[in-house]
Amino acid sequence: MIVGDEYISTLDIIPQQEEGLTRIHQFFSTLKNEGVLTTSKCAACGHVSWPPRIMCPACTSGDLVWVRLASEGVVKAVAGGEAVVLRGYGLPHVHALIQLDGEPPVRVFSRLNGVAPDDAREGMRVRLTVVPASRDRVVFAFEPV
Ligand SMILES: [Zn+2]
Repeated sequence: MIVGDEYISTLDIIPQQEEGLTRIHQFFSTLKNEGVLTTSKCAACGHVSWPPRIMCPACTSGDLVWVRLASEGVVKAVAGGEAVVLRGYGLPHVHALIQLDGEPPVRVFSRLNGVAPDDAREGMRVRLTVVPASRDRVVFAFEPV
């Protein structure tokens, strides 16, 4: 895919930050500018989606609003290794399924920084961190509290 004069792989999740390419770009602008995770909530039925959607998967309504998510949570499962690493990420990498604080319970699969693969554990308290990526973009990760 070509954005401006720059080629961007279609396997690269980062183009979702481009306003002209996706309707969920606001997720990334809020993450970058305010350091907060947000997602979509259906104004019709109240369903909270993760990741953010442009249509409610519960009732198919397109009437969605942005809601802020907690910046802390608890690790529910851990995976580590040296397989495919996306831009903005380095090795070694640990990924975790994290249940964010608050209601409804939202579970986020994310990079877990600041912990060795063998030290990552279910039940660890973690918090959001915003990681600079290429071309003035950001990605999110979590780190131990
Ligand atoms: Zn709905």
